[in-house]
Amino acid sequence: RTDKKGYEEAQKRLKMAEEDHKKILPELRKESRRNYLSKREAEKLEDLEAEIADEEYLFSTDALTERERKELEYKRNLRDLAKDYKKAGAKEKEERKNRYYMPEEKRSKDIPQRDMELELEMPMEGGGEQGRWEEERLKTASLSFGAKKEREKGLKAEREKYQLILEEDEMINFVSSAVIMKGTQDEKEQTALSQAEVQKQSIQEVRRSLPVFPYREDLLLAIQQHQILVIEGETGSGKTTQIPQFLMESGYNDGGMKIGCTQPRRVAAMSVAARVAQEVGVKLGNEVGYSIRFEDCTSERTVLKYMTDGMLLREFLTEPDLASYSVVIIDEAHERTLHTDILFGLIKDIARFRPDLKVLVASATLDTERFSCFFDDAPVFRIPGRRFPVDIFYTKAPEADYLEAYCLVFLTGQEEIETCCELLQERCRRLGSKISELLVLPIYANLPSDMQAKIFSPTPPGSRKVVVATNIAETSLTIDGIIYVIDPGFCKQKSYNARTGMESLIVTPCSRASANQRAGRAGRVAAGKCFRLYTAWAFKHEMEESTVPEIQRTNLGNVVLLLKSLGINDLIHFDFMDPPPHETLVLALEQLYALGALNHLGELTKLGRRMAELPVDPMLSKMILASEQYKCSEEVLTIAAMLSVNNSIFYRPKDKVVHADNARQNFVVPGGDHMVLLNVYTQWLESGYSTQWCYENFIQFRSMKRARDVREQLEGLMDRIEVEVCSSGGDIVPIRKAVTAGYFYHTARLSKGGYKTVKHQQTVYVHPNSSLFEEQPRWLIYHELVFTTKEFMRQVIEIDSSWLLEVAPHYYKNKE
Ligand code: ADP
Ligand code: MG
Repeated sequence: RTDKKGYEEAQKRLKMAEEDHKKILPELRKESRRNYLSKREAEKLEDLEAEIADEEYLFSTDALTERERKELEYKRNLRDLAKDYKKAGAKEKEERKNRYYMPEEKRSKDIPQRDMELELEMPMEGGGEQGRWEEERLKTASLSFGAKKEREKGLKAEREKYQLILEEDEMINFVSSAVIMKGTQDEKEQTALSQAEVQKQSIQEVRRSLPVFPYREDLLLAIQQHQILVIEGETGSGKTTQIPQFLMESGYNDGGMKIGCTQPRRVAAMSVAARVAQEVGVKLGNEVGYSIRFEDCTSERTVLKYMTDGMLLREFLTEPDLASYSVVIIDEAHERTLHTDILFGLIKDIARFRPDLKVLVASATLDTERFSCFFDDAPVFRIPGRRFPVDIFYTKAPEADYLEAYCLVFLTGQEEIETCCELLQERCRRLGSKISELLVLPIYANLPSDMQAKIFSPTPPGSRKVVVATNIAETSLTIDGIIYVIDPGFCKQKSYNARTGMESLIVTPCSRASANQRAGRAGRVAAGKCFRLYTAWAFKHEMEESTVPEIQRTNLGNVVLLLKSLGINDLIHFDFMDPPPHETLVLALEQLYALGALNHLGELTKLGRRMAELPVDPMLSKMILASEQYKCSEEVLTIAAMLSVNNSIFYRPKDKVVHADNARQNFVVPGGDHMVLLNVYTQWLESGYSTQWCYENFIQFRSMKRARDVREQLEGLMDRIEVEVCSSGGDIVPIRKAVTAGYFYHTARLSKGGYKTVKHQQTVYVHPNSSLFEEQPRWLIYHELVFTTKEFMRQVIEIDSSWLLEVAPHYYKNKE
């Protein structure tokens, strides 16, 4: 003993500390899922260290009583424990710099117990992390079925197990390569929510069971505290349908303010709005509505508006500060569509002078750090997902014909999907009662909405559902009950050659990020399986890590015109998350100049201002405006409307191919496909917009109806841009001149072995569906290029080369 007084004091402090420690330790233990110290705990730790240091300084160990020694030991342990937490917390803090901490585990009593356990056990994994993890597994876990016999035995067993009904030679050998999204719990132990159970729950119960629900209060608080918040959550966690409702329920509509939620896809905007209207219990179009191009399903009463990102962009033209919105949600941000990317820049800008505006950027579990970074380190709020393990199977060899290799499938577009559905249905018919009923349901952008709704309808007991979808079902739409996913690994993508200005749609391998999202769809309600119709090698070596943002592979004419009309002249310094290639921007400016929308200083002309008023691409816009000069706006409006629903006018059922082709042939008139489309529409109009007429002529009624809607809306806008609606009275030259005035960029000239585009001498071909396929006129203009087996021109019209100089002197003078 060295100092009696010191000793007494230390004794006293020790007593007090003991009381405190009794409180801290259980707290630390209780919160062991948390990796950081609260402020109070951090202070305690400092005290503790000081005490221990004091005691070690004041007393030599052997002078302590047994009890005192124990206490000191206990304090040291406590200190070490706290230090560990501090270290872990610091590490975590470092990793998640400027990001939101997951709100503490908190869940409602309404959620069934087993659900809670599942959620606790499910690890949270980011997309990238998961990819890496999968690759790791790939290295070690390649597993084949072994010798041929064994393999056959295995396949047989599998076949019985899964009721596969393929012929032996139709089978694809899969290699089970990895299990992604593996939970820590054993698969068997997991009690998945059966679909029947889910259906039994009322809408409100379903709402409460969604992963976002327990975080309602934390989320609302975070939104209150931050102007811009990034929200990350697994597909199906309720971001799109629930968060806007939370906001509605907590007064964000006060004073008639609106909540806007953007979607990159039309189908998603419509479908989600319908669902939310149902959940809220209102008629779609009243309080909850949607707005997509050429279709406005909102009213004075609408306070929650789902819309395509392109529509919100256009709203800037009438309301540059979005003054009627209290919250804007940019949903599906990870899709990085052109319009979403432009919205990022504009909204970041207006948020500065509208402090009352709340901005939520919602995304699947991909790339959220980038969003946070772009929005000046906005916090990220993570909604932990409920994910079940998904077994991944690869083919042993590349699969050439993936339409033959079916089941629940991700395909690239309408045509493929229709073919696949027909195939499936035919096989089901052939097998008759040998298999249980199979519902084959397609989903793609142009599918009529009542058909779209079917994918969500419950499957009758004893039957199975197959959804054949484009990548729309990757993250935008969540279909409950999916257990198997078939992923051929392709998608249709826009690609743009900035040198030639040629844009085309190409079927390309999807990215690894996409493939992982697709696989994830199989593990939402129970453990699932994903069959990849490509090899593990292809996955690793032939697929890109993630999809290139659209802004870097598209024509920017549309967006540049819009930004110019918003008064944003300096596009080079616009706040792009990923700037477009310089030459793309320059080319867009050049094209707009050639179209007469910009003057030589790059300023918007009167024509340009009028062009921007129309919600269509600059070339189509120019074509419509040119129809004023050529006195044929009646006809041109019809052509514009028909072009906007192109490729879904003619109906060609497999069992009536000859009839359908004859019917189509009957519509052919001189001039080209544009004139044929005009003819179809005119005859339909004369039939009194008859459904029967469509049926008899193998024309799709729904597409015609949509063309009529589009036409009416465009006609309604003619007043605003001061174009008089009049007809050419049967003369087709002015009509073709108007088309030329808009599309002179798309001129091709007949040459050896096909057509060559005029500016860049690229070889292109007339699509076999075209009315000019056999005629092969010397000069023509195409509406679009599609690359399938060759570079095909779709919708072509015959022109006279002398018109080019007349309609586009800027472009053609001295060039030809
Ligand atoms: P997220 O946006 O996080 O991907 P959603 O809010 O879209 O999630 O989906 C939440 C739930 O709502 C899912 O279980 C989904 O199946 C359901 N849901 C969404 N749209 C519809 C619909 N049109 N019909 C039926 N259920 C739907
Ligand atoms: Mg969503």
